[in-house]
Parts: sequence; structure tokens; C-alpha cells
Amino acid sequence: MTNLTTIGHFINGKIVDTDSGHYANVFNPALGEPVAQVALGTAAEVDVAVAAAAAAFPAWAATPPLTRARVLFKYLQLMQEHVDEFAALITREHGKTFPDAKGEVQRGIEMVEFAVGIPQMLKGEFTDQIANGIDAWSMRQALGVVAGITPFNFPVMVPMWMFPVAIACGNTFILKPSERDPSPSLLHAKLLKQAGLPDGVFNVIQGDKVTVDALLDNPAVQAISFVGSTPIAEYIYARGTAKGKRVQALGGAKNHMVVMPDADMKMTVDALMGAAYGSAGERCMAISVVAAVGDAGDKIIGELAARTRALKIRDGMDSDAEMGPVVTAAAQKRIKSLIDSGVEQGATLVVDGRDCVVAGRENGFFVGGTLFDHVTPEMTIYKEEIFGPVLCIVRLPDVASAVTLINSNEFGNGVAVYTRDGGVAREFVRQIQVGMVGVNVPLPVPMAFNSFGGWKRSMFGDHHAYGPEGVRFYTRHKAVMQRWPNTASAGAEFAFPTMK
Ligand code: NAD
Repeated sequence: MTNLTTIGHFINGKIVDTDSGHYANVFNPALGEPVAQVALGTAAEVDVAVAAAAAAFPAWAATPPLTRARVLFKYLQLMQEHVDEFAALITREHGKTFPDAKGEVQRGIEMVEFAVGIPQMLKGEFTDQIANGIDAWSMRQALGVVAGITPFNFPVMVPMWMFPVAIACGNTFILKPSERDPSPSLLHAKLLKQAGLPDGVFNVIQGDKVTVDALLDNPAVQAISFVGSTPIAEYIYARGTAKGKRVQALGGAKNHMVVMPDADMKMTVDALMGAAYGSAGERCMAISVVAAVGDAGDKIIGELAARTRALKIRDGMDSDAEMGPVVTAAAQKRIKSLIDSGVEQGATLVVDGRDCVVAGRENGFFVGGTLFDHVTPEMTIYKEEIFGPVLCIVRLPDVASAVTLINSNEFGNGVAVYTRDGGVAREFVRQIQVGMVGVNVPLPVPMAFNSFGGWKRSMFGDHHAYGPEGVRFYTRHKAVMQRWPNTASAGAEFAFPTMK
């Protein structure tokens, strides 16, 4: 028995506990203590949620897009009123700092600001008189029940890459949040209901692999959006598509920043501090490698090391905090052992974050900012996604070697180049095999009105997330040709019809 609060499912408009009798502890990573327990759902519970979503679909899909948008407008207002509440839940269960969490909520809100324009985006194309007496048009229709499976690192924003657009398009939705920080999912559910969303249109099923597999196998689920690590993304894509579903599966990353010798070094170091250590490096767009060209490494190393040592590492609710803990004790252990491997394999450890202890938070899952120099591509710290506050500098002679290094990396999520030379930047943008590119912008995360996605093993599937690509993902294209019987019939045609 435990006296922790239980975080349950939200099915057909109601919060319900699981029948499984299984729960996982949800920790406050700054304290290193459990603060709640989350239900681990069963396959049968997934089927109940899918049935509720399937039952709600016909009426919701037939609801005029403007009426659907008005529900989302109301939800947008409610989100704006609850920014602090969402952010506090994120900091409590994820650990990132409160201002960082507020930034995440704001980026989520922008997804709703895009989705409320859905009547404009669902307009098709029309051609009058494509043939004698025939008009042709195209339309996009909702898929049905769609599901989103999301990672721990953006418990508010990543689900919002999915459900506002999916729902606006007329689909019904099942969210399977990360079991590490599940509380925001129920706040979304509450506010969507308050905004007037009919029961069954948005559902939450808590759990682990059991619930994910049940979603993948349920024939009524038409599409899966997944964001998480690469091995799981690949698994979701293979199993989901084998079951005939549409799947977009966004995976892990190893993002490089190429620093040219002519870059503005103050701007570069500022950018690196936020992009490498913000959110303790637990961002899929975090910069984890500096590809320092020529003498750029010598120019930044002193300042970068001093500022990494001076990072204010605290409980994320502390107003001074620049960086909070990592998400779990297991993550802390894995990151520290990767730092060990960097030392063993011969990289220069300039700043060591392994022994970080935060006063008053001695049991928290903290890792200090860590900086390696002279890292080479064979080292494990270069090859693996560390997903922690560890920055690696690789020294390279020229921009061509940086492009070759990055293009041969298995991941291709984000990249940045810092330079004052427009010609170098332009060629870099054209040649680099990465989905999102920043020129003097460290985290080129597209706004809600564009779309987000990596290349290579950072994404499986054809449609990027949210924005116009999200509308395409969550709708099917239909082509219609129509004739009314007021033109004389030319009789039966046995040859393949051509336009007359
Ligand atoms: P994860 O892959 O462990 O978990 C993601 C989701 O998959 C969770 O909901 C989890 O419950 C579920 N899951 C975990 N193991 C499973 C299994 N064996 N079978 C079925 N489902 C399973 O990822 P995480 O640790 O929560 O998140 C961090 C990862 O997500 C990093 O690799 C990061 O780069 C990636 N990420 C990518 C993007 C992107 O846009 N490309 C964005 C955010 C995070």
C-alpha cells in the first residue's frame, strides 16, 4: 500500500484507475523521491479507450471545422490561464527549470494557435469543367482514431505537436504519455473537456510497452505519431506500418554545431551554453557536439569551460537555477558511466560534472555541466546520444571535414553553423543531410506554422510533425469527379476514358 496520489487514465470524459493493479512511481528528480504513482494500463483498457474514440469519431468528423476550431479557441484561452500550473507540473516531474518549462508550454500553445486556423487549411482544390459537363475537386478527410506516444522530455509540448491538429482535422485521439511525467496529460484532458470537447474525442491511456503494443495492434487505430528514442521509433514504425497504419516516428539525435574561425565567439559561447546545458541536455535538439574548425576550438574553450564550471545547478523551482537535475536515477547513472568511458577512451575532460551535489537536494538526480575536448568520432561519447549535460568538442581542419563528419552520422535531427561568411553558410545549408538547420541559430526548432522533423535515423515515416505536414498526416486526400445527368450520354465507353 502507498499513500501516493494515483495518476489514472482519461477515457470517454472520465478519469479512471487501472484494473491491472500495476503502478510505476513518478519521481520529483530534484528531490530524488516519488511524488505520485501512475497507472500502468492493460491491453483491455486500451481497447476500451479506442472503442470510446471510435464511437465519438462520426459526430466529431461531421462537426463543421469552424465549430471544432471554436472549441480549440476556448481551450487556447484556458491554456493561457494555466501556464504556471502546467509549468509547475513539468518542473516537478521532469526537473527542468520553471522558466524553461514555461517556454515549453508557450511553444505548445502556439500549436493551438495554428490549429484554430483549420477551416482555412482543409480547403481543397476545384477545377470547373475538367471535361465536358464534369467538375473535379479534392478534399481532405479525417482518418478516424489516431494515437500519440510521447517521450518524457517535453511532457506538454510534444503531445501538443499532435493532438491539437489531429482533433482540429476531425480525428479522435488517444494519448499515451511518458510514464515518467504523466500529470500534464490529465490537465490537458480537464481543460479540453471544460472547453466543450465532446467525450471520447480526447483520451489518455497511461502505461508502458503493454499499452503501446495494444495501440499498435488495435485495427481501429488508423495512425500513430511517436516521439522518443531511435530504437523504439524504429520498432513503432515497423510494427505500426505492418498493421497497415500510417506512422510518423521521430527518434533520437546527435546535434552538431559547426563553429567557423570567423564566428562571433561571444555569440557562439552564449548559444552553446543554452543549447548544450539547457534542460540538462535532455532536448532532442540540444547541441551535444561542437565541430570546431581551425583555431575556433582554441578561441572558445577557455570561456566555455569557465561558464560551464559556473553553471547554477539547482532544484528547477529555485529562481536562480540555470539547470536542474536529469530525469531519473538510471539516467544519472548512465550519463556518468558515459563520462567514464570518455575518459577511458582518451578524450580530454575539461569540466567534470560527475560529482555534482546540490545543497539541500542531496538525493536529487543531478549531473553537473561536463565538457570534453579532443573527442574523436570512434569514441562512445561521440557515437551515442548521451541525453545529458555533456558537450563534446571535435577539432577539424576545415568546413568540408565537418560536413563529411555530420553527413556520416546516423542521426540527422538538428545542426547549426556559426559563421559571418554568407557563402560558407549557404553551401553548408545546401550540403548538410540534416532535417533542421540553424545559421547562427543554435536550436532551429520550427515554429508551429512550419513543420518539424529529422532525417536519417532521427525519423521514420514521410510526414514531419505539426504545421502543414501535420494536417497532411492527419487527413486523407480524396479526389472527386462529378457529372449531373443534364448532358446527353455519349453511350457506353469501352476505351479508357479521356477528356472530351
Ligand atoms: P523512449 O523511447 O524511452 O520512450 C518514448 C515513449 O515510448 C514513452 O511513451 C515510453 O513509454 C514508450 N516506450 C518505451 N519503451 C518502449 C518499448 N520497448 N516498447 C514500446 N513503447 C516503449 O524515450 P524517452 O526516454 O522518453 O525520451 C528521450 C528520447 O526521445 C531521446 O532519444 C530523444 O532524442 C527523443 N526525442 C526525440 C524528439 C524528436 O523530435 N526527434 C523529441 C523529443 C525527444
